[in-house]
Amino acid sequence: MSHLTRRNFLKLGGAALLSTALRGFNFQDTGFMPPPIVYHGSRNQHAIALTYDDCYHADVLEQLNEMVTPYPDFHFTFFAVGDAITNCELADPGIWRRLYNRGHEIGYHTMQHIDTNLMSTQAMLADFDQWNNVLHQALGFLPEIHFAKSPFNDVSPSFEQLCSERGLVDTRYSIGYEGQTVDDGLYAAARTQNGDIVQMHTYQDPAKGRQDVAISALVIPYLAGIGFSLVTMTKLYGDLLREQNSSNGCEVGTGASLTRTCVE
Ligand SMILES: [Zn+2]
Repeated sequence: MSHLTRRNFLKLGGAALLSTALRGFNFQDTGFMPPPIVYHGSRNQHAIALTYDDCYHADVLEQLNEMVTPYPDFHFTFFAVGDAITNCELADPGIWRRLYNRGHEIGYHTMQHIDTNLMSTQAMLADFDQWNNVLHQALGFLPEIHFAKSPFNDVSPSFEQLCSERGLVDTRYSIGYEGQTVDDGLYAAARTQNGDIVQMHTYQDPAKGRQDVAISALVIPYLAGIGFSLVTMTKLYGDLLREQNSSNGCEVGTGASLTRTCVE
């Protein structure tokens, strides 16, 4: 063992523990394969995903879209609740098609922002199908949906099963710019790292400490000014997978490998 670094020793130890833990669990019996989970993108690329959850307010969606007018390559990902898709479409017909055609991405966030711990897998699957129907009606077509975000960021068996069965990536986040004041948001934004998935919402109600629009209006030009790209979840995740797949066995970001010399 003396030729192993402590870090690699810990890695091997972890692998041994994991294989012991999994020995008593037969995935084939349950038919369950854990879905991919993403917390952030590549730490080597100067790009982040700015995501907005819930999306109940059509006027806020329009304001956000206008904020990136000076930056044609900047895109958001909207984790929209199904009811919000319908209501925004009624309030502002064509809004979802305009957002989609502008290059923004739409992800699943349940029909009614329910606690997924309270739902059976069957109910979860039905909820996703209903959400797809609602989006189809709003857009006039149904894009491929790759990303799902659980309300309240809960981890529940039914949500994991849904992601597994429908090929969705279970999406978490690595930073948020939200706070009681605009300064809170700017303070957080100054700590943005390469590859961050940023969680925001679509609320502007300073009396309740919700400042998503005001913070976004300042943060987007700030991020542009320090050279960040704002990309969709599909782009962020795709670039991460490509980087991992071309790493030649080296651990991305650390230049470490158990078997070969890595240079970064
Ligand atoms: Zn939410």
